[in-house]
Amino acid sequence: MKWEELTTADFPAAVEQAQGVCLLPLGVIEPHGGHLPLVADLSAAQEVAIRAARQEPVIIFPWYYFGQILEAKHKPGTVALGGELILCLLDSVCAEIARNGLKKILIVNGHGGNNDFLGFFLRTALEEQRDFVVYVSNWWEGLDVDGVKRIGHAGEGETSGQLAVNPELVKMDQVPPPEQGQPLDRYAHLPGLATATNWYADYPNQYAGDGSRGTVEQGEEMIEAAVEKVVKQIRAVKQDEAAGQLYEEFFGQSQH
Ligand SMILES: [Zn+2]
Repeated sequence: MKWEELTTADFPAAVEQAQGVCLLPLGVIEPHGGHLPLVADLSAAQEVAIRAARQEPVIIFPWYYFGQILEAKHKPGTVALGGELILCLLDSVCAEIARNGLKKILIVNGHGGNNDFLGFFLRTALEEQRDFVVYVSNWWEGLDVDGVKRIGHAGEGETSGQLAVNPELVKMDQVPPPEQGQPLDRYAHLPGLATATNWYADYPNQYAGDGSRGTVEQGEEMIEAAVEKVVKQIRAVKQDEAAGQLYEEFFGQSQH
């Protein structure tokens, strides 16, 4: 059930049918080589969420692409909001989802660059007690399919995914030349060290891997494997009581 397509009269029954679970597909607006649309990350996560919801009822939150993408702000079309703002915004949106009766929020993340942001976001829920629990799943993670092993960034896997989800927006004649998909290794002299520009140093064109090898069949295989996984995760979240109980227990103890 898509949140925005429900009527206000139907909403309470939908919450009940979803057993209080809301899926929040999370992306960013960022360049993907020269051939994939800016919306790629969000649309893949949304597609996984929509297909999963056909098998296990949930409410899906509308378009949300306010993730972390500061590293791509040198490229046209990127929407790179500040760190504090994206934390506050996501927390506030989750609070609104919960106020509407959906106390379990499963973020279906579609962008690798959100991982550090989401890890920190989860920890900030330990600062002050919320009345909801957030779970995070990266849709591509832990899938035993070939495309995921060569996902890259706008590379073989991600291009395959977009050929399955957004075929009309993929421009295979504009895949960058193969050498652009290789890391530049400009920080080879800084082994094991992180800096703000590590990603930019290797992949200044937001392109990693080989998008020319993408196929719709591989993309379908990836998306379907992700759907199967997310359906299981929704069922696990519906049954889960531990995350809420331990969260309360933690706050009980932290106050003494
Ligand atoms: Zn991304």
